[in-house]
Amino acid sequence: MESQKLIMIPAKALSRQVPCWQRELAQAITDPAELLRELELDPALLPAARAAAARFPLRVPRGFVARMRKGDPDDPLLRQVLPLGAELEATPGFVNDPVGDRAAQAAPGVLHKYHGRALLIVTGACAVHCRYCFRREFPYAEAHAGVDEWRLALAYLANDPSIREVILSGGDPLSLSDRRLGVLLAALDQIPHLERLRIHSRQPIVLPERVDDGLLERLAQTRLRLVLVVHANHPRELDETVRTALARLAATGVTLLNQAVLLRGVNDSTTVLAELSEALFAARVLPYYLHLLDPVRGAAHFDVNETEASAIIKTLRRRLPGYLTPRLVREQPGQPAKTLVG
Ligand SMILES: *Cc1c(COP(=O)(O)O)cnc(C)c1O
Ligand code: SF4
Repeated sequence: MESQKLIMIPAKALSRQVPCWQRELAQAITDPAELLRELELDPALLPAARAAAARFPLRVPRGFVARMRKGDPDDPLLRQVLPLGAELEATPGFVNDPVGDRAAQAAPGVLHKYHGRALLIVTGACAVHCRYCFRREFPYAEAHAGVDEWRLALAYLANDPSIREVILSGGDPLSLSDRRLGVLLAALDQIPHLERLRIHSRQPIVLPERVDDGLLERLAQTRLRLVLVVHANHPRELDETVRTALARLAATGVTLLNQAVLLRGVNDSTTVLAELSEALFAARVLPYYLHLLDPVRGAAHFDVNETEASAIIKTLRRRLPGYLTPRLVREQPGQPAKTLVG
């Protein structure tokens, strides 16, 4: 029987195995009906979910869905990904490009807004679609640096010695295959004035399978000091698989930070935010930023106003050590840094 099994697996397929994380990614839930069924939710939610998904598609990895409570339409993890009718309501002040990204492009896919740091949009793809994302309305197809355009982006970075740090962003830069990521990292390695490489990625949280040997090998090869900024908004996002992934990253010497977004109905409470900070630190991650929602069209129902946000962060500051209190910030177009709030 052994020989029969061998015949069924062609040698070619064995040598070009698809990494486990890419299979997980391909199997993400994209049909609202399936998500509702999986979580035993009321099918009456479906028409609105379909309508909102037509504007910004549903996408959520199954491992993330497994961390949600069944039968709870208000689950804080579900709220981040379930399309709602409220997204289709127009709200004054909520616009398509709330942070002025289109105006800030210095070269194809390069946002150079802050001194010493340049942000590279390397892909439009994400493993998860967060309903509040400030780039939900961003024209990625035009904006991200495709493989050919990396040449122009890299030339821009090489020509400006004031740039010490490159930030890989997107979309999610860890959506790139190890091979493409390796090519990019090797090219950045060659730019002598670069010292740090920062990666902004939600994948270690929503798709921890991404943190595999192939990725860790690539990260270990660069001469640049590595910072990985993950993105978790609620303590229940950090389960055992995520903690393992983060521990492996920490073991390779990557500095781990978290950025969260303050979201109505998800984490707009001092208790939840304190638990998030504790859970992050237990997983070797320091809280970095807590962002006020960027006023992007379709996300107004997540908004927490500045007065309430300031009160929440003040209470948090009294409850936690300074190093576990994230900086509450907002992004203001045209400013030389993010603006501290509270
Ligand atoms: C947020 C951001 C950065 C990084 O800012 P830090 O304060 O260094 O975290 C850099 N470039 C752009 C365009 C940004 O939006
Ligand atoms: S992972 Fe980040 S970039 Fe992607 S949809 Fe979520 S918030 Fe937006």
